[in-house]
Amino acid sequence: MTRFQIPGLSSAMLDNLTTLGFESPTPVQQEAIPVVLEGRDVIAMARTGSGKTAAFGIGMVERLNPKQFAVQALVLCPTRELADQVAKALRELARAYHNIKVLTLCGGTPIGPQIGSLSHGAHIVVGTPGRVQDHLRKGTLSLDRLSMLVLDEADRMLDMGFQESVESIASHCPENRQTLLFSATWPDAIRQLSSRYQQDPISVTVSGGEESTATLQQQFYELSPGQEPEALMGLLSREQPSGCLVFCATRQDCDTVASSLTRSGFSARSLHGDLEQKERDLVLTLFANQSCTVLVATDVAARGLDIDDLPLVVNLEPARSPETHTHRIGRTGRAGRQGLAVTFFTPARAYKITQLERSVGETIEPLSVDGLLAVPLAPIQPRYVTLCLSGGKKDKVRPGDILGALTGEAGLPGKVVGKIHIDPFQSFVAVESGVAKTALRRLEDGRVKGRKFRVRMV
Ligand code: AMP
Repeated sequence: MTRFQIPGLSSAMLDNLTTLGFESPTPVQQEAIPVVLEGRDVIAMARTGSGKTAAFGIGMVERLNPKQFAVQALVLCPTRELADQVAKALRELARAYHNIKVLTLCGGTPIGPQIGSLSHGAHIVVGTPGRVQDHLRKGTLSLDRLSMLVLDEADRMLDMGFQESVESIASHCPENRQTLLFSATWPDAIRQLSSRYQQDPISVTVSGGEESTATLQQQFYELSPGQEPEALMGLLSREQPSGCLVFCATRQDCDTVASSLTRSGFSARSLHGDLEQKERDLVLTLFANQSCTVLVATDVAARGLDIDDLPLVVNLEPARSPETHTHRIGRTGRAGRQGLAVTFFTPARAYKITQLERSVGETIEPLSVDGLLAVPLAPIQPRYVTLCLSGGKKDKVRPGDILGALTGEAGLPGKVVGKIHIDPFQSFVAVESGVAKTALRRLEDGRVKGRKFRVRMV
């Protein structure tokens, strides 16, 4: 029998996998295990049957310290059935080492015996969010030594209304931890969960089978010089994207386009090399928070941009080269999500479209811009407002503190809170526009980390 071909696994684990009959990794294991072993966060699109449990379980067991009797890994599952199944699989994987204890904490069973088991210590806890939260509330479970949090079938957990529990549990976990998110689908809510609780996650999507579908659509519009802003507004009004990146050739173009969008009621900002670092960071935070819908950028300014998976990317004029074009449009339609990339070109730039056709070996059929120009103006209202708090990492402010101040004691429901970003000296929190004033007041009147901070709407 051949051994499991993934570098970095201990020989104890390899022997155990052989015993379990695991000859070769499944595609999701191939991608995820090395990243898990490295200690990095992973967001993986994987369903039951893909081998996802071992995809996180093998690295989990390898990274545990069996000598430390404390909960080092927590797996949250939507149902008791799944939790039992996951716990069973983890116990099998943990046979590689002596004495790794896996405990399940699920609702629908008496809590007393669970408290007893917890008092004897466990390395790994697998549970459903409601019951895990109960234990945290009672103080019968401590996550102070946790180094890995796994959200399994995260989309189902959200569908089942566990969002607030998951968030509350995450706020009990040490900040310095590894977070793995497994989900069969990646709707917006999953992306938000990821952006709030993961750091720089590696996306794992396995091509082949039902999991991959071509999701990037491209449209090309020929127009007359000067029609670009109007066509862009028509496009935005038609598509109503939650976020859109518009590429321009020059800084001046960026400013002009952003201003004309703003004048027409769109929430747009320009991003180019003339901005100071502080301004640039603020624009990026607003855009990442969905407090600003349209980002107008040059290629250079967009280069280091840590934002992808956008629903819409627009080339206000064709990119310099086919490579740049591919790079630009690669920011949309990722990971199984629907994406649209639109390119405008004037007759003078039609040769660029011919170059592109040659490069990709496909014919491009331009659409008439009249359709876009006829769309009634409908500026997109940003979903979130960003609040800035005058305290940050240096004040030991953590996302959980801000979330707690907003949602605690009959406060706002957790689902109205978007991304939370903590800088050294200040913090930013996105809240749904409808509750912005209430949120502002709560933060002003309440305390974060026992202190009062200044709060303003950005
Ligand atoms: P899961 O998607 O985690 O529910 O796993 C589906 C089934 O595949 C389970 O019964 C696993 O024991 C089995 N399995 C997972 N990975 C492998 C592998 N690399 N080789 C053989 N069987 C596997």
